[in-house]
Amino acid sequence: MNTQIIRTRMAPSPTGEYHVGHIATLLKNYAFAKKHDGAFILRIEDTDQFRLVPGAVEKILSVIKAYGLDWDEGPEKGGPHEPYVQSQRLSRYKDYALKLVEDGAAYYCTCSPDRLSALREQQQKDKQPPKYDRHCVSKQSEIKKQIDAGEEYVIRLLVPDDEPVSFDDMIRGEITTPSASVDDQVLLKSDGFPTYHLAVVADDHEMEITHVLRGEEWISSTPKHVLLYRAFGWEPPVYGHIPVFLNPDGKGKMSKRKGTVSAQSFLDAGYLPEALLNFFMILGWTPQDQREMLTLHEYIQEFDPKDISPKSVVFDVKKLEWINGQYIRLLPSAELERRIHPFLPDDFPNDALHKILPLVADRLVTLRDIEEHTTFFYRSITIDPQLLTKKSTATEVTNQLAETKDVLSRIDDWTVEEIERHIRDLQEERSWHKRQYFMMLRVAITGKTATPPLFETMEVLGKEKVLSRLLIQSDALSV
Ligand code: GLU
Repeated sequence: MNTQIIRTRMAPSPTGEYHVGHIATLLKNYAFAKKHDGAFILRIEDTDQFRLVPGAVEKILSVIKAYGLDWDEGPEKGGPHEPYVQSQRLSRYKDYALKLVEDGAAYYCTCSPDRLSALREQQQKDKQPPKYDRHCVSKQSEIKKQIDAGEEYVIRLLVPDDEPVSFDDMIRGEITTPSASVDDQVLLKSDGFPTYHLAVVADDHEMEITHVLRGEEWISSTPKHVLLYRAFGWEPPVYGHIPVFLNPDGKGKMSKRKGTVSAQSFLDAGYLPEALLNFFMILGWTPQDQREMLTLHEYIQEFDPKDISPKSVVFDVKKLEWINGQYIRLLPSAELERRIHPFLPDDFPNDALHKILPLVADRLVTLRDIEEHTTFFYRSITIDPQLLTKKSTATEVTNQLAETKDVLSRIDDWTVEEIERHIRDLQEERSWHKRQYFMMLRVAITGKTATPPLFETMEVLGKEKVLSRLLIQSDALSV
């Protein structure tokens, strides 16, 4: 029996907005750990001091929580491998790099930036891939003296000349790279900070990470990581590289240029976090029975990274909208009222929310749509008179409006039933064309051709407003 405890992680860099792709990847790591009663770890990778964005860590933590996800070990929570922020672990990385130098698996390099860029230029001219030429390898004792005298240095991995570097990707199968094509990467920078490659390997090892599901943009880094594990004599985790999302038009990697990508912006646009998670679940993965709606709990039971398609998937906004609509319809009314609150415009009549919301809930694609579907309840409406007279003459419509107003003004008990009875009786008595009359009335009262059920709408609008709108429209037609 395999008794290994599954430990996965997500390792965000606080260099900007957290992307929907990050949440989708985090979800997979989270679900895989939960499925196996393992642990999901969150680690902040903030060693690239130049790209740090103030406040980004707090935003990342809060958006992960806003999506209803959580971590077992990490910032705010702590855990057996504290601290979970790389800038607080700096001394370890230097020790690791020095240990590799001692073992002959890494070396000091004091090449100046000028020399390195001249080398790169030459390689470009010669149509060679950019690679460090090991200028410093043979001069280590000399360099050591310079370093002791205060000279700046970096530490580079001594990549073996000719060894196949393989790993078995959970999603893509075996991937092999000749070590000759891997550069002697920098592990420790001259400011004493580790590079991403050293820090990620050291931490994944220390934090006992067993599986790493990450975006395919990291696939070219993985041979470097495998080589580092080899140099340390450690067992690498199992990797799986998840395909990128393509822009909704199917062209190119999803990017800011073609619309929003930030995880927070989708919540701000009125998508429900559970609908977004469901959407991420089925992008590039389908449950056995092919259904498109599943809860987080069901996903955890059924998800297996091996079943993720290695092909890039289009970020199909139409599908997301459909799923979101489904989830909105599933919310109990009190919960929908609570969730929609932040999206209500300032002039929304809050005390009528419980009456208005059930009338429009079926039409909401996102929570933000609430304004568009309800303004006629609380703002004045403007109508193109031609809409009223589309199927009839101005004289007839003016007459219909006046008679309807008369009939409605006689109602004391302003209820759906009474409104409906009066209007239907009038229409029958006058033998008005049913479709023309009801559509005309709908437009006169709401300004729109598509609205919630007419009589319910009239009840919520109130007698006074309905009568005054009928009057305004008939006046407008008769001038
Ligand atoms: N810090 C990296 C990032 O920003 C982590 C990459 C990885 O998962 O190894 O995504």
